[in-house]
Amino acid sequence: MSALLPTYARSGLSFARGEGAFLFTETGERYLDFSSGIAVTALGHAHPQLIEALTEQSQKLWHVSNLHHIAGQERLGERLVEASFADKVFFANSGAEAVEASIKAARRYHFVNGAPERYRLVTFEGAFHGRTLATIAAGGQEKHLEGFGPPVQGFDQVPGFDIDAVAAAIGDETAGVLLEPIMGEGGMREVPWRFLQDLRALCDATGILLVLDEVQSGVGRTGRFYAHEWAGITPDIMASAKGLGGGFPVGACLTTEAVGDAMTPGTHGSTFGGNPLAMAVGNAVLDVVLAPGFLEHVAQMGLRLKQRLASLADEHSDIIAEVRGQGLMVGLRCQVENKTLIAGLRERGMLTVPAGDNVVRLLPPLIVGEDEIDFACTTIDAACAALKSGAS
Ligand code: PLP
Repeated sequence: MSALLPTYARSGLSFARGEGAFLFTETGERYLDFSSGIAVTALGHAHPQLIEALTEQSQKLWHVSNLHHIAGQERLGERLVEASFADKVFFANSGAEAVEASIKAARRYHFVNGAPERYRLVTFEGAFHGRTLATIAAGGQEKHLEGFGPPVQGFDQVPGFDIDAVAAAIGDETAGVLLEPIMGEGGMREVPWRFLQDLRALCDATGILLVLDEVQSGVGRTGRFYAHEWAGITPDIMASAKGLGGGFPVGACLTTEAVGDAMTPGTHGSTFGGNPLAMAVGNAVLDVVLAPGFLEHVAQMGLRLKQRLASLADEHSDIIAEVRGQGLMVGLRCQVENKTLIAGLRERGMLTVPAGDNVVRLLPPLIVGEDEIDFACTTIDAACAALKSGAS
């Protein structure tokens, strides 16, 4: 019997090592990893530059706390600022913490600007922002809230991407709007770029903040450094994590100067956030992701994957209803139960992730090549054919 809290329904697979887009079990079976540890191992497994960065840092200094200047943290902060809309960065250890910092920053901004009553955020049905008490309240999903007492208050959920519904939900107590540019856990639902532009305009017109959760969609996953760049807009606050550490726990809250100025000493903190090990790996991730041509590679591979999947969806329209997503953040909405297709793929040596709305998530590492995409599509084809013939 396991000593672990039974909070996960685990697959039973146990991996001993990884290499690029592949994982190997204790008994040497190979799996094509189109899950990337849920969009985390952005550079695949055992990337030589990440190994070198972590090894080198591990021999010098692990942890000093944020009571001191941390050179790697300053450097990663400056690079994120340089490459994004942001002027300021706070480092945490996970996506949920990055979102928590974002929620706090949005509230604090209004507090120091003479509107302490503005603390509420408009959020969207089907959203996922993490598993802390505030982030489950922001996500608003009953299955995550049940049994955990009164939800943290301050979140007003609206259905769909309807700008009039958002406008109607904004009141005197509203601090901002919080959303994912592509809803990952919610089923790889793309927020229309036009809607994001309308939201930006609405936030500007009403003096509230646009807060984006790019924990899953960020750090190159969609073929841009951050997904909102496709819409040609910028947020006021953004949460980032997952791919930022390439497998080492790193989270970040990025803000404009005006918001950042509200977060004075003592208003927020983290013992581990931005420690030298995490920052060494984060900087190495950016060395690769921001190198010339890398994001173009992601966009090209994403296009190839989506084109191949579109023809598979035509061929197996009784299994795949729709192909969704952007870049290497792709979803297959299924006609059969998504878990059945995921099991069929796993039996054939390929790992994927379930999502809401009966979707199978494909999250290959960003370093994925054409051969691996072709192999993935051949595997999906075989799994669909077997499901059709009833062979599983
Ligand atoms: N926000 C989004 C959009 C996510 O997809 C996730 C995790 O899947 C989180 C927040 C929470 O991140 P973490 O599990 O690192 O706390």
